[in-house]
Amino acid sequence: MKTDPFTPGLRDVVDLRSDTVTRPTPEMYEAMLAAPVGDDVLGDDPTVLELEKLAARMLGKEAALFAPSGTMANQVALATHCAPGDAILIEEEAHILYYEVGASGVIAGVVSWTLPSQRGAMDPENVERHILKRNLHTPGTKLICIENTHNRAGGTIIPQASMVAYREIAQRHGVLVHLDGARIFNAAVAQGISVEQIARNADSVSFCLSKGLGSPVGSMLCGSAEFIDRARIWRKRFGGGMRQSGILAACGIVSLTKMVDRLADDHARAKRLGESLGKLQGLSVAMETVQTNMVLVDTEQAAEGVVSALGKLGVWCLPVGARQIRLVLHADVDDAKVDRAIKAFQAVSRSA
Ligand SMILES: *Cc1c(COP(=O)(O)O)cnc(C)c1O
Repeated sequence: MKTDPFTPGLRDVVDLRSDTVTRPTPEMYEAMLAAPVGDDVLGDDPTVLELEKLAARMLGKEAALFAPSGTMANQVALATHCAPGDAILIEEEAHILYYEVGASGVIAGVVSWTLPSQRGAMDPENVERHILKRNLHTPGTKLICIENTHNRAGGTIIPQASMVAYREIAQRHGVLVHLDGARIFNAAVAQGISVEQIARNADSVSFCLSKGLGSPVGSMLCGSAEFIDRARIWRKRFGGGMRQSGILAACGIVSLTKMVDRLADDHARAKRLGESLGKLQGLSVAMETVQTNMVLVDTEQAAEGVVSALGKLGVWCLPVGARQIRLVLHADVDDAKVDRAIKAFQAVSRSA
């Protein structure tokens, strides 16, 4: 069986653009080949049912739903929790706002009330101050959205004390909490706690199988059984009902059973990469933001130019600001590739 998923010639590229770029592991190919499948829209794909049960158990929730993407899982959650015209409280650079093409306004029809943060963590007092009671004039706040780890802040962890504070505030005011936990497993591994300890502070949690956990496709949405029943209708409405999706769910099961602990390697490599690059001429790295698998590199030169020079040396990354580059560690970047990335940055920094 052919299990090399790389385009010939591209295996040696150091691809630091995102942790979404991971190829399926040989074990995932085996799992896909062996997976019993059914029709998940009709509710009888045993591999999807197994994945949903496993995800719910790990997150400490009653039920879970397999979705094609994290964006869909988040937007299904918003549409399920909220009615058009409800307000959500959300960090101002959240993925839900920044990278989901306005879906919250287009689909759920919610008003997004944005708050600043420190490295992705909103001040709980400020959150409480902005909870609105519905009246003739004002939309009512229905949902607080949290992102942990926080993507645009550089994969930073939301402190557990803040997670608990958001939940307590929500309970006091009768509002709900949705956690965009695309990288909740990175947050848990980095803190040495279980994902359940983070997830217990939210009514619903989305997370990605297709990032550091290495699956080719898919995200999970977890919550109460009643919530997931209603979310399943919304997923169908989005066109996200899939048929023999056990083929994909089989990889998700490998992700959850075999790929969690190795996230610590990505975190260690991110630290080493950040420390090395921060010493180079023309580059700086705020190491306090390097908490999980991302490194934000500030450049004296325009980020676009640095990225294109690196690309010619076989190191791929993305600019996230005029003078900032993001590097993301994942299962397909080993120590040797980290060394090659450092060498490429050295070459580019010398020629600048
Ligand atoms: C990647 C990501 C998502 C979901 O992205 P998809 O590409 O739609 O799977 C959601 N939230 C955050 C914070 C992310 O980083």
